Amino acid sequence: MAKKKKFFVSTALDYVNASPHLGHALEKAQADVIARYHRFLGDEVFFLSGTDDNSLKNVRVAKREGVAVKKLVDRNSRKFYQLKDALNLSFDDFIRTTEERHIKGAQKLWLACEKDIYKKKYKGLYCVGCEQFYKEKELENGLCPEHKTRPELVEEENYFFHLARYQKKLKKIIETNKIKIIPQSRKNETLSFINQGLEDICISRSAERAQGWGIDVPGDASQKIWVWFDALSNYINALGYAEKSLNFQEWWTENKDKLHIVGKGILRFHAIYWPAFLLSAKLPLPKTIFVHGYITSGGQKMSKSLGNVIDPFELVEKYGTDAARYFLLQEISPTEDGDYTQEKFEERYNADLANGLGNLVARVIALRVKLKIHPVKCRSAAISSKTKLFNRAKIKKEINKTQREYRKALDDFKFNEALKEIWKLISFCDKYIEEERPWEIENTKHKTKNKKVIEDLLFALSVIAQMLKPFLPETSEKIIQQLKTRRKGEILFPRI
Ligand SMILES: [Zn+2]
Repeated sequence: MAKKKKFFVSTALDYVNASPHLGHALEKAQADVIARYHRFLGDEVFFLSGTDDNSLKNVRVAKREGVAVKKLVDRNSRKFYQLKDALNLSFDDFIRTTEERHIKGAQKLWLACEKDIYKKKYKGLYCVGCEQFYKEKELENGLCPEHKTRPELVEEENYFFHLARYQKKLKKIIETNKIKIIPQSRKNETLSFINQGLEDICISRSAERAQGWGIDVPGDASQKIWVWFDALSNYINALGYAEKSLNFQEWWTENKDKLHIVGKGILRFHAIYWPAFLLSAKLPLPKTIFVHGYITSGGQKMSKSLGNVIDPFELVEKYGTDAARYFLLQEISPTEDGDYTQEKFEERYNADLANGLGNLVARVIALRVKLKIHPVKCRSAAISSKTKLFNRAKIKKEINKTQREYRKALDDFKFNEALKEIWKLISFCDKYIEEERPWEIENTKHKTKNKKVIEDLLFALSVIAQMLKPFLPETSEKIIQQLKTRRKGEILFPRI
């Protein structure tokens, strides 16, 4: 038997200074669709998620709350892990940067990069929110462009990484798509940053400034590893880099298909710093970096002070897992910023899920029960020469076209386009019912024809269920169950 193709996909590690919001849910849902889609294609998938526990922000929040840092990160990391159930995520591993396997791996990577590491005195402006130094010219009115806060002046002797050495190599890697950055606009942004000239970066901080929190620099306990150098190495640490395990070899060294899914705010770390560290350590590079935008709430950035933070757990509680997934993948653009409002959410829910999909399934199943048609087998959604179709040419053409466009969209990470294709097929089925009117029973001849029309629709529904699988796994399963049994099924999405 041929060996299965391997596919590795990761989400970024979330900071655990607060609970997850809807923006975190977006990235997880996107990664989950890609993971499920690749499993559906028959690939062997490794889907990785996790949390960044070592950020300085955690230390500060813990202090403010009067709890131990470890307690705070344990509590919040658990909440991120709970997104697995809430959003029905299928990740295979969840790594935390306070775990032994990660600490060992981060230190090993440091040692592997040692020829590019040196010590020097430095003075710079540091944003703790971003965990990075900023140049004066990168600030907006003296404020961090991401957090709108004033960065802190830091003066220390730290370790530096010789990033400038990798400028030419990195430029070529990005230009030639050796690492493919999606969308193109983010590739351009990366190249323009490289073209401005790469400077060496600070990759440690004093244990004092880190307030004792973080991973020790190997051989120098007075310094902690910069949280990004530490965090980025999670992608290989989860695979067993520290022990040089077989898993690491199979999933990172030999496997060509490795994808990182990240938000636009941390593009530079993934598209420039991470590849530079890997080059320095003589380790293989990822193949693709997919970059998504942010979710605003009512047109504004989600913030505690504005009181507009959307809690994904509450959303799921109220509308259900698949409804939340649908909104994130359909309404929110895959690569641009998107906006959440309750009105928009409910509009989508009623129009597409309750009326569109839910209504079609209920209608077809009801007619099947009425006309006493045998439950269908839906092992495969591909049309074979044995598939019995009444309006064969018409149905086949429509389904083939949908499947083709759906795959094309998903291969390009256009989640919303892929869903649009499914919904076009739903509309086609609605129209087909209206045209053929299979409920009009006048004589036996009519009855036979009606049965065949319903069989066509049942087949189309089985195709729809298959294509929904990566997006709405639970709903897909419910449809498949309804197709298999003789009874009328439950309503998929009750109107709100
Ligand atoms: Zn910042």
